[in-house]
Amino acid sequence: MAKFSTEQLPELLSFYYKRLFPYGPYYRWLSYDNPDSFSHRELSFTLAGDIYIRYQSFDKLEDFEQELQRKCPEKIDIGAVYNIKPKLKRTTANFDVVEKELVFDIDISDYDSVRTCCKEANVCNNCWKLMSLATKILDTALREDFGFKHLLWVFSGRRGIHCWVCDENVRKFQSKVRADIAEYLQLLTREDHTGKEAHIPTDKVHPSIKRALNIIEKEFVPVCVVGQNMLGTVEGMKKLLFMMEEPLKSEVESEWEKLNTSAERWDALKTIFNTLFAQGKLTRRSRNFIDEIMLQYAYPRLDVNVTKGSNHLLKSPFCVHPKTGKVCIPFNPSLASQFNPDVVPTISELLDEIQQWDAKENSDDTKRKVKHYKKTSMYKGMQIFEEFLRKLEASGKERSNNEELPMDF
Ligand SMILES: [Zn+2]
Repeated sequence: MAKFSTEQLPELLSFYYKRLFPYGPYYRWLSYDNPDSFSHRELSFTLAGDIYIRYQSFDKLEDFEQELQRKCPEKIDIGAVYNIKPKLKRTTANFDVVEKELVFDIDISDYDSVRTCCKEANVCNNCWKLMSLATKILDTALREDFGFKHLLWVFSGRRGIHCWVCDENVRKFQSKVRADIAEYLQLLTREDHTGKEAHIPTDKVHPSIKRALNIIEKEFVPVCVVGQNMLGTVEGMKKLLFMMEEPLKSEVESEWEKLNTSAERWDALKTIFNTLFAQGKLTRRSRNFIDEIMLQYAYPRLDVNVTKGSNHLLKSPFCVHPKTGKVCIPFNPSLASQFNPDVVPTISELLDEIQQWDAKENSDDTKRKVKHYKKTSMYKGMQIFEEFLRKLEASGKERSNNEELPMDF
């Protein structure tokens, strides 16, 4: 099978924008049943050689299609919808944001202090589990705490995941509301002198945190304790001991010396913690220690600036990551743990898949009729995207029907 190499990128992108980029569904998404939403949307391109062009906008889908095929951008970013077309920005001083999805960005490199398998931009199936836990927690919070319905989850092609909240009322949120939501969802900011990043201040744990803990608890041992060998090394143990207060600390330390594996040590910590808790011997600051550790290791680490700014740009779904060659593809948040970033196909592989499909199919007519992405492993991601669009469009129709009802009371 063809391996992706960055030298082939220009050629592969040209092919991708001609034959694979899902123009129709993409337009349906960003127009939200209103062509102005698309034509007033800022799109920006990064071209070969790091040439960055902001404030692009396109009156029609055909213009967008032609420009992508002509310029073959290595990256497309999506910005806000403005009161005037972004390409006409220079002609006016009144250039304001009208709408923008609420977006979330989680980057695996922000987990470097708690993961041991990879560093920086690298990600494997093992540390991806941290991302899938983050997805589960954030998806649940957005749906249950805020009632958001139209969430598009996307793998960024290399080391991150994005969530686009596309509900109509949400797209109109002012910056203040976005900032409040980001703050609400951000727990891990107040690192103290021990390196502890999660602090549960009182005995009353907020229901949202409690729910996050329930999600984490089920997977904490396989994902963090064992998966990241949390307490399997001297360093790992030191780090946690440093966060503890007496008498927890010395009791745990002497017990850990007798044990060998990360899982045994985690069990011992919990047993000692529970005993001391029951005896009323824990300091006030230690009373939520186990919960705090679980949050510190597994609670979503959001890049909140991306969420706060209503004009912040975020990489578009269906871009091809220029370094990995992987397509930025939607995934199902409830199946995030089964998503494996290692097997996301590169554009070279997608091209192979099309050729293989075409070779098997004898009729030229059928070859032409079947959309190219249906011949590839992009199909699954496209089905998720189509499903998202169907629900989004149905809710738009439902609303406009309701608006047409006579107000009769
Ligand atoms: Zn890893």
